[in-house]
Amino acid sequence: MCGIAAVYAPGLDVARLVYFGLYALQHRGQESAGIAVGDGATLSSHREMGLLTGVFTEEILGRLNGYVAMGHTRYSTTGSSIIVNAQPFMEDTDIGPFAFGHNGNLTNADAMLAALSPSVELDATSDSEILAKTIALGSGATLVERIKSAMAVAEGAYSVVMVTPDSIIAFRDPWGVRPLCIGTYGDGGYMIASESCALATVGAQYLREIEAGEIVVVDRNGMRSEHIEKVEPPALCMFEYIYFARPDSVLTGRSIYMARYEMGRALAREHPVDADVVMAVPDSAIPGGIGYAAESGLPYVEGLIKNRYIGRTFINPDQNVRNQGVQLKFNPIVENLRGQRVVVVDDSIVRGTTTPRIVSLLREAGAREVHLRITSPPIVHPCYLGVDMATYKELIAANLTVDQIRARVGADSLGYLSVDRLVESTGRERSDFCLGCLTGVYPSSPVVALPGADRQPALKL
Ligand code: SF4
Repeated sequence: MCGIAAVYAPGLDVARLVYFGLYALQHRGQESAGIAVGDGATLSSHREMGLLTGVFTEEILGRLNGYVAMGHTRYSTTGSSIIVNAQPFMEDTDIGPFAFGHNGNLTNADAMLAALSPSVELDATSDSEILAKTIALGSGATLVERIKSAMAVAEGAYSVVMVTPDSIIAFRDPWGVRPLCIGTYGDGGYMIASESCALATVGAQYLREIEAGEIVVVDRNGMRSEHIEKVEPPALCMFEYIYFARPDSVLTGRSIYMARYEMGRALAREHPVDADVVMAVPDSAIPGGIGYAAESGLPYVEGLIKNRYIGRTFINPDQNVRNQGVQLKFNPIVENLRGQRVVVVDDSIVRGTTTPRIVSLLREAGAREVHLRITSPPIVHPCYLGVDMATYKELIAANLTVDQIRARVGADSLGYLSVDRLVESTGRERSDFCLGCLTGVYPSSPVVALPGADRQPALKL
């Protein structure tokens, strides 16, 4: 996960634009936030642990002056949630300084680290800094040449934005695992962000996705782009459609909201049930719930209200906080549930810690039956491309059958969307996606053993 954004707008102070862009991307990472700004001559930056609103005050933003800027909100997978891992990373090189923000996960970080000189000192403990250092210390007369060299060796997921004192640079791994898009801003300006909702928030006009293997540079000469030679099969993370991206974002021309709505409709066809009402677990499953209701002809009701000021339980890396967080997270609408046979649509069951609490909350509120419907197939393999689903042990569907999961979560019935119908709902081809955690077929090689993984995810497309 992680959210990244960058703005180039001559004549404007753009730190606030990046701040509001990141605000729209806060769902992608809530552990730390940072912004770096260039004024044509120098770079300045600020980063801290916490949500964007806690990290940046008027006074801090007021100090970040310049017409080029980038920012990052972090969700940790590799490297713990500590300040040295907060981004952007600031690098000083023989060809000038840059700030660096990464969304993704490298699968060959150890090999890349070994390729760096032993005298290189790392401040952080994440794969992101290894990529930044590989660029900073690479050979090549320009940053773009160094980026190309780093991309030739880096394996895994990396969508990156960088700023120099007078330019923004963005690039995306040759598989295109994590999203990254570009738009225009005002007169001659550009904005790059993880999702189109960040562009819309500040009034930038969406142009297109940055392509897999593409490097985009924006500076006083305008926008230019080139592709690296290495070409890989496309592998956009399917969970961007299922769960991560905001429903108001558009990914390669397809509205996330509509894709989720179609998932709900397909789920109703695959797993119909005799019930009274349909509800969704807020927020990301709501379009799917509305789709299920539309297809089944059952009324859609709000069954749970989410306290929006508590972070996403899934995104928080600490299991204790996860366990406690969900109890604070939802309140039931008793009037919509009492005596009803309820279809509950959710987007995924990862560890299976949240779902039993939701089912009991609905039963305590008076639901007569609880039929769980999931707009993703069972997650049966870990992710090593930037999502916190690291080991087989912690994935409930890797260890239990569907009926065992149903019993464990306390539902009357349980149905998952199939892989084929899921792909169909996106309006794209199966070959466009990484489906690694659903099928065990991963996009990049070499595939590394995950820390604590008790089986090796080892197939290459
Ligand atoms: S393994 Fe799953 S979560 Fe990870 S990138 Fe692939 S589809 Fe996304």
